[in-house]
Amino acid sequence: MKQECKVEPLAALQENKIAAFDMSARDFLVGEHGRCENPRLYRSVEPRLVRLHRRVSRKVKGSSNRDKARVRLARTYENIGHRRTDWLQKISTTLANEHDAIIIEALNVAGMKRWNGGIAKSVTLDFSWGAFVRMLGYKMAWRGKQLVTIDRFYPSSKMCSACGAVNSTLTLADRHWTCPSCGAMHDRDVNAATNIKREGLRILSEKGINVIKPTTNSTAGTAGINASGNPARPVTSMARVDERRIHVL
Ligand SMILES: [Zn+2]
Repeated sequence: MKQECKVEPLAALQENKIAAFDMSARDFLVGEHGRCENPRLYRSVEPRLVRLHRRVSRKVKGSSNRDKARVRLARTYENIGHRRTDWLQKISTTLANEHDAIIIEALNVAGMKRWNGGIAKSVTLDFSWGAFVRMLGYKMAWRGKQLVTIDRFYPSSKMCSACGAVNSTLTLADRHWTCPSCGAMHDRDVNAATNIKREGLRILSEKGINVIKPTTNSTAGTAGINASGNPARPVTSMARVDERRIHVL
C-alpha cells in the first residue's frame, strides 16, 4: 500500500512571495533583501571539545575514567548535532511558511571542501546544506509550493545582474566587485541571489507555473516595501532570534 500524501501544487504563485538565496558558508543563506546567519554551533563549543579530547587522551587506556571522559565527549558531539538539526528544522519551516517558491543553487559540496580549512570546517561541521535542502524540499511540497534548484554550472556569481556580462576574473575572495562592462557595483552574494531569482523565475515559467506579479495598487504607499515590490526580508530577524538561543554548553 502506498503511503503517499498527494498535495495539489498551488495554481498560481505570488511573485512577491518568491525568494532566491545564495549559499554562503559565513552567512548560511543570502537573499536579495537579507541574510540568515549560520549559528556556528561547532565553533562555539570548539574550546570545550579540545579540552574533552585532551582529557580522554590523558586517562589511562582501559580505565573507567577514560570511559567516562569518552562518554562526555560523545555527548557533546551529539548535542551539537541535535541543536543543528533543530535550527535547520525551524529555519526551513519558517521559509516554507512565508514563501510560495524558493530558488536556490544546487551545490557542489565536495568542491567546496577544497576551500581553505576555516571555511571547510564551517561547511562540513556547521553548514549541513544537504540536510537543509531536503527539509525545505518536503516542507514546500507539503504546502503545494515549489523549491527550484539552479544548475550549479549557471554562472550566478560571475554574471553581472545589471547587464548580463560574465566576469570570468572574479575569485572567491572578491566580496565586492565592479562590472567591467557596465560599471555596476555588486555585493558578491546579493548579485548572485538576484541572478538565481531571475533564472528560477525562468524555470518556473518553463514548467508552466503561473506567477502573479504584484499590482501597483497593493504595494503603493506601503511601508517596508522596496523597489522590486518585495517586503523587507523577515529572514534576518528570525535568524537573530535564533542566534540568541545558541548559548555555550
Ligand atoms: Zn554589468
